[in-house]
Amino acid sequence: MSLSPIYRGRFAPSPTGPLHFGSLYAAFGSWLLARNAGGEWWIRIEDLDPPREIEGMADRQLQTLLAFGLESDAPVVRQSERGSQYRAALDRLLTDGLAFTCTCSRSDLAATGGIHRACVAAVPADAGDGRQPAIRLRVPDGSTVAFVDGLQGEVTQDVAAEVGDFVLHRADGYWAYQLAVVVDDALQGMTDIVRGHDLLDSTPRQILLQRALGLPTPRYLHLPLVTDADGRKLSKSSADLPVDPDDPLPALRVAWRMLGQDPDALSQTGNVTALLRAGTEAFDPQKLPRAATVSLQRTT
Ligand code: GLU
Repeated sequence: MSLSPIYRGRFAPSPTGPLHFGSLYAAFGSWLLARNAGGEWWIRIEDLDPPREIEGMADRQLQTLLAFGLESDAPVVRQSERGSQYRAALDRLLTDGLAFTCTCSRSDLAATGGIHRACVAAVPADAGDGRQPAIRLRVPDGSTVAFVDGLQGEVTQDVAAEVGDFVLHRADGYWAYQLAVVVDDALQGMTDIVRGHDLLDSTPRQILLQRALGLPTPRYLHLPLVTDADGRKLSKSSADLPVDPDDPLPALRVAWRMLGQDPDALSQTGNVTALLRAGTEAFDPQKLPRAATVSLQRTT
């Protein structure tokens, strides 16, 4: 495993529920892109939010991925064990004056639609009234980020106006996704981030944070988000097309077709290993759907 790979991608589930078809679609898509590039594919467990997590779910997700033949090329990292890395990054931002403590509550920010541009909290951060401050990244006016997504094309966001100063460390003591994902993608040497379209609008924040920390920006590619026939996002909590580890082939075939690939390429495959081998050979990234959503087509 080299330190600067040509291509290293990852799948990073949060253990808040069993993997659903939308997660499998993103995992399979990122795996195929990594294999197509002759690259590595790693799994990282994003267990940063204990109140939303379910005991034993991370192991269950890993077993499901394994049953679908999607195995990490490196030992699986869990974000719950990486607080010291996030602390080091946060301390650097605080020392450099790029982050600040803030006691603004949701209701304090209601007037600006939740967007933080300046502290408006009635209670100052050092009032000692027991309210724990959050720590936010300062996003100066005019912080517009543009990048070219591998599938969605050019994306531009005025992060100051549309998002504001965003949270890096939460008032309830937990690490924010935006900080952890940026630190880990960089420390793990990720070159290519492939994930669902629902995270597209987080990417400009992550690029700003990379710049603030002096970290490289990987390539990004956002796959369409899988919706049900009524256009609703599939969720881990809903029972939409459960991904069955005892019967992986049908869901892999549906995902393959919804990734825009030729179904005939997999028609002769009777087990997961053969299917993934045929998929690796036949996969054509140019055929991936360039859309924000793709609706679930159940028939194989
Ligand atoms: N953990 C995030 C999720 O499950 C994905 C993060 C990412 O791929 O950047 O939605």
